[in-house]
Amino acid sequence: MKTLFHSFPAVLKRGLVVLGVLAAGACAYNETLGRNQLLFVSQGQMAQLASSAWTDLKKQEPTTSDPKYLNRVNRVAPKIIRAAGENPAEWEVEVFKSDQINAFALPGGKIGIYTGILDLMDNDSQIAAVLGHEVAHVKFNHSGERYSQTAAAQTALSAGGALVGDSQVGTTALQALGLGAQYGVLLPFSRKHELEADKFGLRYMARAGYDMDEAVRFWQKMSAQKNGAPPEFMSTHPSDATRIAQLKREIQLIRSGS
Ligand SMILES: [Zn+2]
Repeated sequence: MKTLFHSFPAVLKRGLVVLGVLAAGACAYNETLGRNQLLFVSQGQMAQLASSAWTDLKKQEPTTSDPKYLNRVNRVAPKIIRAAGENPAEWEVEVFKSDQINAFALPGGKIGIYTGILDLMDNDSQIAAVLGHEVAHVKFNHSGERYSQTAAAQTALSAGGALVGDSQVGTTALQALGLGAQYGVLLPFSRKHELEADKFGLRYMARAGYDMDEAVRFWQKMSAQKNGAPPEFMSTHPSDATRIAQLKREIQLIRSGS
C-alpha cells in the first residue's frame, strides 16, 4: 500500500498546506450532480490506489464459479455499466461466496457482490438496482471525495506543525475505499453519497430497460430483514423511510422525463 502513496500529492504527506488553500484549489462543480465536489485526487489516482486492495481482496475472499450466480450477474452488469456511459470491458465484477448481504464498489471500475445478497433478489431488475447504485458511487468518484474530505481534516489538524505520517495517510486511503483496516469490513459512505448513488442508479436501470419499481421492492425487502440480525448492507447502506420515499420520488421524475 505504502508505495502507491508516492504518486499522491506530496502536500498530503507533508501536511504543509492549510485547509483554506485545499478548499480553494480543489473544489470542482459537477454538473450532473449539481453540486461542488472537494477533490484533490483524480479518478485515475483513486483507481491506482484501489487496484492493489482489489487484488488482495480477491486473494483473501473466495469467489464463486457457480453459474447460478455468474449467469445472472454477467447478464445484468454490462447493461448497467453501458447505461452509465462506461465501457464494460474496462470494469470487473466479482461474485464473492459469502452469506453477507452486501455489495461494494472500488474506484477503477471494480464491483464486488456477495452470493448472500443475490440469494435475496427475485429478478434481474433487483440485481440492476444494486449494481446501478454501486456503479454510480464509482462514476462520481465518491471515494475520492471521501478521501479528500478526510485528508483535508487531517491536514487541518496537523497544520500546526506535526507531519502527517505515512501510516496516517494509509489509513485514510483505506477508509476512502470503504475498507476497514481488515478487508471484509466495509465502511459507510455519507447519506448524501448514498442518496446520489440511488438517484443515478435508478437512471442507469431505466436506460438499460429494467423495472425501477423493483428497486423499491428490493429496498423494502432489505428493510424487512432488519428484524433479524442486521445485514451488512443495511449498516453501510441505511435503508429507511427517507430513502424509499426518495426512490419513489425519483422514479416519478424519471418517468415524467425530468
Ligand atoms: Zn452505497
